[in-house]
Amino acid sequence: MPTLSLPAEGGCRCGRVRLKISAKPLLTMACHCTGCQSMSSSAYSLSAAIPSEGFEVTRGEPVIGGLHGASKHYFCGHCMTWMFTRPEGIDWFVNLRPTMLDDHAWFTPFIETWTAEKFPWAATAAVHSYAALPSFEEYEPLVAEYAGAQG
Ligand SMILES: [Zn+2]
Ligand SMILES: [Zn+2]
Repeated sequence: MPTLSLPAEGGCRCGRVRLKISAKPLLTMACHCTGCQSMSSSAYSLSAAIPSEGFEVTRGEPVIGGLHGASKHYFCGHCMTWMFTRPEGIDWFVNLRPTMLDDHAWFTPFIETWTAEKFPWAATAAVHSYAALPSFEEYEPLVAEYAGAQG
């Protein structure tokens, strides 16, 4: 299995926005909600929750896209790639789209969310599935279990 080596660099489709991570994901996810289907132009979105202190935009200025609501979705303003999300009310991690990283072969979603809205044929390798989202109390044990599974 390929593994993540840090620091890891990445960027959008055109390369005008580049970023770097220097911390392991707290959790990896696939989201089947219809909003993510629209935003990703695909069956589901992928996220790696990166601790904020280990996340850095190193080139360019990403712009806000999506619904311009409380959760901030960041895009490249030129190629319009959906790059990362700062979820509403949360500042200690960033939800990075892992396919932004130049090397993302290591990525596997550990949980999948909003399966109530998924395509009947859409399947992922996630260990835990949620019809909507995990409850707030479930995240801490999930993060511990994910860390343990990474060795
Ligand atoms: Zn771009
Ligand atoms: Zn979603």
